[in-house]
Amino acid sequence: MHRKPIKHCRACGTAVQYRVPDDGDTKERAVCPSCVTVHYENPLNVVGTVPHWGDKVLLCKRNIEPRWGKWTLPAGFMELGETTAEGAARETVEEAGAQFELQELFSLVNVPVVGQVHLFYRARLTSDQFAPGVETIEARLFAEDEIPWDEIAFQTVKQTLQRYFGDRHAGHYQFHAIDLV
Ligand SMILES: [Zn+2]
Repeated sequence: MHRKPIKHCRACGTAVQYRVPDDGDTKERAVCPSCVTVHYENPLNVVGTVPHWGDKVLLCKRNIEPRWGKWTLPAGFMELGETTAEGAARETVEEAGAQFELQELFSLVNVPVVGQVHLFYRARLTSDQFAPGVETIEARLFAEDEIPWDEIAFQTVKQTLQRYFGDRHAGHYQFHAIDLV
């Protein structure tokens, strides 16, 4: 899911051109031929949680594209003005209607091919009752042997879940930095 190229200048609306700016830059950017604004495009952060209840984790069945009907951890794009932890908590409320205590940062997954960095926090559920939002068909707890591994929406989620259960078996949780290349 590559990002769509910028078409129009955000400052004046003129159609942009992709070229190397004249300021010593070395990369092609969307440059406005009219007002000369350079539109920089940088990676986006996706923030979410690994909500757990006993030996189970909470997954959400997606009611949105891409990957409609596939299972994911609650996660979404970080908003301006919030911290990564606040964003992760917000997404968990929005997508699952879960009640929880946010814990440590668990995984950081670089996905340079789509220009994203995904961050997942562990979250201790304080209730096993959920109220999924409009982006979720169903929110459900899964034990490790119940995880629908072939129906997981994203590699970032799959890798995070694999490490979560690995740590759970090892008896302690640590931080995981992962590069998906
Ligand atoms: Zn412009």
